[in-house]
Amino acid sequence: MAYNLPATRLLMNRLRQMMAEDGETRSRLDNVVRLIASTMVADVCSIYLRDRSGQLILIATEGLKPEAVGNTRLGATEGLVGLVSRRAEPMAIQDAPRHPSFSYRPETGEDPFHAFLGVPILRGGRVIGVLTAQNRTERVFGDEEIDTLQTIAMVLAEIVDRIDPEHLENGNGHERTRNPASLRGRVFCEGLGYGRAVLHDPVVPAAKFFASDQEVEADRLTRALGGLKKSIDRMMAIDGAVLGDDPRDVMETYRLLAHDPSWAEKLQEGVRSGLSAEASIDRARREHRARLQSARDPYLRERLHDLEDLDNRLLRILGGDEGRPVISEERSVLVARRLGPAELLEYANAGLRGILMEEAAASSHAAIVARALGIPTLGGIEGLTTRIDQGDWLIVDAEQGVLHVRPDDALYDAYKDRVALRSERQAAYAALRDKPARTKDGKDLHLMLNAGLELDLDTLDQSGADGVGLFRTEFQFLVSETLPRLDDQVQLYRRVLDKAPGKPVIFRTLDLGGDKVLPALNLQREENPALGWRSIRFALDHRGLFRRQLRALIRAAGEDPLTVMFPMVTTPAEFFAAKDLLMKEVEWTYEATGKRPRHIEVGVMLETPALAFSLKELAGEAEFLSVGTNDLMQFFYAADRMTPSVSDRYDLVSPSALRFLKMVSEECRTHGIRMSACGEATGSTLSALCFVALGFTNLSMSAGSIGPVKRMIRSLDLAAFRADFLDALDKPNDAFRNQLLALAAEHGVELAEG
Ligand code: PEP
Ligand code: MG
Repeated sequence: MAYNLPATRLLMNRLRQMMAEDGETRSRLDNVVRLIASTMVADVCSIYLRDRSGQLILIATEGLKPEAVGNTRLGATEGLVGLVSRRAEPMAIQDAPRHPSFSYRPETGEDPFHAFLGVPILRGGRVIGVLTAQNRTERVFGDEEIDTLQTIAMVLAEIVDRIDPEHLENGNGHERTRNPASLRGRVFCEGLGYGRAVLHDPVVPAAKFFASDQEVEADRLTRALGGLKKSIDRMMAIDGAVLGDDPRDVMETYRLLAHDPSWAEKLQEGVRSGLSAEASIDRARREHRARLQSARDPYLRERLHDLEDLDNRLLRILGGDEGRPVISEERSVLVARRLGPAELLEYANAGLRGILMEEAAASSHAAIVARALGIPTLGGIEGLTTRIDQGDWLIVDAEQGVLHVRPDDALYDAYKDRVALRSERQAAYAALRDKPARTKDGKDLHLMLNAGLELDLDTLDQSGADGVGLFRTEFQFLVSETLPRLDDQVQLYRRVLDKAPGKPVIFRTLDLGGDKVLPALNLQREENPALGWRSIRFALDHRGLFRRQLRALIRAAGEDPLTVMFPMVTTPAEFFAAKDLLMKEVEWTYEATGKRPRHIEVGVMLETPALAFSLKELAGEAEFLSVGTNDLMQFFYAADRMTPSVSDRYDLVSPSALRFLKMVSEECRTHGIRMSACGEATGSTLSALCFVALGFTNLSMSAGSIGPVKRMIRSLDLAAFRADFLDALDKPNDAFRNQLLALAAEHGVELAEG
């Protein structure tokens, strides 16, 4: 097999023509393998395609016996072809029959061929087949030849993806029917949506694979690479307040990758072989994705993610506005592998009908932004981006956690019925908006809003919330690429206060670290970030940053009242240190501006079990306590909230957790600390019922939960229910959740679940 650039370019041109031609699939494939073999002077060229069961079926060959086509089937990992498919990377072997994985198939007449080169045919991170070249002589294929065959495989992917290998025997290449599919996901934001898939990552259409002018193309690529390096250097040169100097910092890795000459060289080589700049990047992206699918090591996975992000960035730079996903005015569902909160915010006004992410954590920041936007969102859908094509119709059932891809008519009709039902329910909740959250026996409760973005405040009036029970200030940091300056912070906090006139707003101070990682803060990689240098621990160790935030809060309040709470406090000493800084900042601000808040309330979040045993020390110092169920439950049960296999395993509605909260409630009462709860659990009507029965008067939740929780409260005779509830807590049966559901039903409490 010989290799030279002009021949490759010629081959690309011919393939381009073939792709455009109509005609019978089988003969098109025969022409393709003949062309590849002759141009590359290979004795054999074959295409194997995976069927639904994962078997690799020979669908075209030049050089092997024609009768093997459609008949030679290899198990998913059988033979050298299976090995290429499993590893998702090219393999060049000098003497194939002597390789331990070689599987001899007499029907192919393969024995005289020694040199073997196999490359995966990749589409959307999936291996859909394998392309091979073989020669009689024993030799090793060189790097350039491997690159060439990979490029051809990329072009082939577009041709063969829609072929159903099962229908080749009878000589006709039928189009693979793209069946409906249902995939399970986790509900990140409740709701129902219907629309066409819009892929977040740039798509390179087959028509753009080939360059008409190679020099122009090389120049475009060079300029795009330059632009990428510059944009990353700019991101690195942010704010003087960059902290720490860990060399494994995420941004630095990014920069190293972007400046890596071998990556750039590989891309240039693709262009030299006749590909467009976009196609060359796409080729690299397919490889990174395929390796990502099989990589297990978390560090390697992160690097491959970084590489894929770089591929995508580069494609966006090349495409300019053209490279941006187009959201049509109506009916678009965004499909993304993973999304940063800032990226998602860019779609805020696009009228999306749904958001789908492969990313798995409901408490990830993109998920929280999706909730703020109120768009039905599912996450944790494995293989999502490889199973959906641009423009596919989708039903996002973010009530039951199911995604229907290319739904049939029956599913669509069922969906429409559900939408009608949902709007009836929503109308009933809306009618409660101006009614108090008062129990049947006259106890008034406060339902507050969890917020983190200015955008959230728009739902304050609509939802009928009594105020903001948790404002996550770190969001401003997470959605911007640089550290917000003092003025930016003051302005945001002031706008938040202005949007909630006459209503309380509880600002939670910076809760960074854990899963809330800022590229700008060179945080060290930790073994257990949730248990690590995060939240108030981090803030107290970075006083400049922390004090700047406290100052911003005080300045924003001016002479208005200010409520602040500290997150993840483990010991009273941490609380006192933080409160001390706050009070000093109040004095300094007063000296500087002559203004200070006319009333200051300081609260503490209960997120670590240890603090529950120190409430006595906080008496008279902390006005209120807010249970952060997301973190508290992960520490209470030792179950990571970010790991899907354990995050839903343990129930807050269980005797152990509720007895713990009962103890907290009694301690608070004894020491005169007001009790509230925030965190996702408050949004479930059953959990909220438990909190209320335990004496919590203030519950903070996302906007969509306020209606259902208010309805529950208004149907509740608290004193009567509490007596039976405490009794059940004392004598629980094995299915405690069911026991409580039955009890609630007996008392006529209207729950949204169960
Ligand atoms: C919590 O942990 O419950 C909480 C409200 O804080 P966050 O989810 O922001 O960690
Ligand atoms: Mg928390």
